[in-house]
Amino acid sequence: MRAYNFSAGPAALPLPVLEQARDELVEWQGGASVMEVSHRGRDFMAVAERAESDLRDLLAIPPGYRVLFMQGGATLQFAAVPMNLAAPGAAADYVHTGHWSERAIKEARRFADVAVAADAAASGYTTVPDAAALRPRKGAAYLHYTPNETIGGVEFPYVPDTGDVPLVADMSSTILSRPIDVSRFGLIYAGAQKNIGPSGITVVIVRDDLARGAREGTPSVLDYRAVAEAGSMLNTPPTFAWYFAGLVFQWLKREGGLAQMARRNQAKAEALYAAIDASSFYSNPVAKHCRSWMNVPFRLAKPGLDKTFLAEADAAGLTNLAGHRAVGGMRASLYNAMPIEGVRALVEFMAGFERRYG
Ligand code: PMP
Repeated sequence: MRAYNFSAGPAALPLPVLEQARDELVEWQGGASVMEVSHRGRDFMAVAERAESDLRDLLAIPPGYRVLFMQGGATLQFAAVPMNLAAPGAAADYVHTGHWSERAIKEARRFADVAVAADAAASGYTTVPDAAALRPRKGAAYLHYTPNETIGGVEFPYVPDTGDVPLVADMSSTILSRPIDVSRFGLIYAGAQKNIGPSGITVVIVRDDLARGAREGTPSVLDYRAVAEAGSMLNTPPTFAWYFAGLVFQWLKREGGLAQMARRNQAKAEALYAAIDASSFYSNPVAKHCRSWMNVPFRLAKPGLDKTFLAEADAAGLTNLAGHRAVGGMRASLYNAMPIEGVRALVEFMAGFERRYG
């Protein structure tokens, strides 16, 4: 029996995709699994090409952008971004909205002259800076932000306008949750293990003019131009993760694409926030206009009951609801693979728990 899995990542994957991968696991195309054939063979090349073209369809990626499948997670992109987009010591601007933007800033300081263009610290990272406050420095190589902070549950309700300065986004926990206008971005990156597939593969969408070659000394597997020229096969890629991501893209198209995902995700998030707001036992600290659709952190009025809550939820088939170890409390992640039924079951469980212990 599969539980409703609220993990923040690696997160629940769509059941039909898991089933398809299971059915094809031992014998895929011609007597071997997808993990046992050359990445340069005809069969796998077709997988790679289809994955890219489906992702281009889903996100309506305009011409003039490269789609790369890389390794090392979003964390390696924290370094790859300045190594590719900024000359040594060049100005690079960052927006600080919580844990993951802080990690990106810390890594970038090793490679560039980083300035924090806006910092939501005064709110305890429960809101995002006003659009008008986001002014990159003149001549900055780029402005980096984190559209969805996975731990804080804070999501930008707007795309920053940075004028001529390229906008870079860590979309790890929001990509594919709704349509976006890719043309607003110079570069988008995302680790796979939330809305794309298993961990081990990282999607990078980069405007051609930003993939002209990394700074001297950059390992070639991190150089966007080198990776693009090699069709993301400069070395052996994580073939199973790539294949699986491709199946997820096909599933998303069958389900009606990102407009449909947006409707579902909004309905799921609204149902959970409404239950939290209607109760005096549960609370969510994030300003209403920037509450995440993907990650919903909440606290119990009696934190002494956290362990009991988690144990009883687990027994009811609602798993991985513990908040990030850095902040405690609870967190329900509602990526594309979480059905509305899972959210309804959680809301019902929460109401019952409140009646028994509140
Ligand atoms: N950025 C964000 C927004 C994330 O949620 C995460 C992982 N939870 C990361 C970066 C780090 O990703 P990875 O572990 O793939 O390096």
